[in-house]
Amino acid sequence: MSPRATRLALTVFDGRMASMIYLDHSATTAVDPRVVAVMAPFWSEQYGNPSSLYGLGRRAAAALEGARSRVASILNCHPGEIVFTSGGTESDNLALRGVGLAQAARGRRHIITTPIEHHAVLHTVADLVERFDCDVTYVPVDRHGLVDPADVAAAIRSDTALISVMAANNEVGTIEPIAEIGAIARQRDIPFHTDAVQIAGCPQLDVSSLNVDLLALSAHKFYGPKGVGLLYVRRGVKLAPAQTGGNQERGRRSGTENVPTIVGMARALELAQGELNSSVGRLIALRERLAAGLLARIPDAEITGHPVQRLPGHLSLIVHGVEAEGVLIALDLAGVAASSGSACASGAPTASHVLTAMGFTSRDAMGALRLTLGRENTDADVDFVIERLPEIVARVRAMSRKLEAGEVPRGYRES
Ligand code: PLP
Repeated sequence: MSPRATRLALTVFDGRMASMIYLDHSATTAVDPRVVAVMAPFWSEQYGNPSSLYGLGRRAAAALEGARSRVASILNCHPGEIVFTSGGTESDNLALRGVGLAQAARGRRHIITTPIEHHAVLHTVADLVERFDCDVTYVPVDRHGLVDPADVAAAIRSDTALISVMAANNEVGTIEPIAEIGAIARQRDIPFHTDAVQIAGCPQLDVSSLNVDLLALSAHKFYGPKGVGLLYVRRGVKLAPAQTGGNQERGRRSGTENVPTIVGMARALELAQGELNSSVGRLIALRERLAAGLLARIPDAEITGHPVQRLPGHLSLIVHGVEAEGVLIALDLAGVAASSGSACASGAPTASHVLTAMGFTSRDAMGALRLTLGRENTDADVDFVIERLPEIVARVRAMSRKLEAGEVPRGYRES
């Protein structure tokens, strides 16, 4: 399959096939055909259990350990420091529960994190507070979603068990000063976790220069398969297993290893990191073109997140006076897949916890759009969105005004 073929085909209701412009790479990515190829033998030829002693099992174990070594060399750590998991959510859970519970046993129950973390972190911290008597300090972020390392330092207490700050935010793309925060944590001998799920296609993946003790990744964010991820755990960090059983992954994560997807993840990470030189600059140029084009044509819109310190292909904006849901539906009908910053449950949209923590009102946050570019996107894709999105926004705004004025019944949908 050519890279161009990773563009999805969308079946529309009238039976025609239309090509879709995919602008939601922060949500997930298509598996790279080169990754599919390396996974192929491990489904039904080399399907052995890595714990089995015979040849088939030994070959699976060799593939598993090969993948571990390749990932470790990219992260600049020892292979024994890599724990394979089912994805970002599990890696975050294992880090927070594993360290949180090990530290609670030593009387340390205070956790420092931020209000803009993914729910994989926020809900896990909330559970540690509720069920294990932990205490949490949320350090604030500024209008760009940036954490100030000095605020982290000021929040440290004698019973601080763990610090968790994400490497880059999924909703607004801001890249956090992880190395500086890590240096502060290390000076005070406090384990430091970072959710690096959004940052795998960026240069910042060296755990040694990042000063992190735990780092979570998820393969489906970098053109690898879904349902597989990893947690880097620095040697010496005490981690209670979140899942017990057959003692795989050195007892830190029991369960038969998912060899095909682990092999695929290692290849996807190699490709993502190997292509950094060409991908980062290209994505930044596409993002800047998209941002400039949209801001010039959509009145009363603003970029959210840090203007410079942000993920290369990540554009997030607030379009004031619209509800993002209406814009996203119209974009979908125009053949563009994008998302909103807020978690929209149908009929009851909730304002994004990230944007409200950054100081935006709930009403502002309702107009949040996220357009995240990836490998297959081109200038032509960007130009198409620059042309269509302003028209869509104008229509949705006009409709909102009519709704507010009571000129059309609620529930009416423009065709
Ligand atoms: N953390 C961040 C920052 C994410 O963006 C995501 C996924 O959207 C996750 C964690 C969860 O990863 P997974 O989908 O692999 O469970």
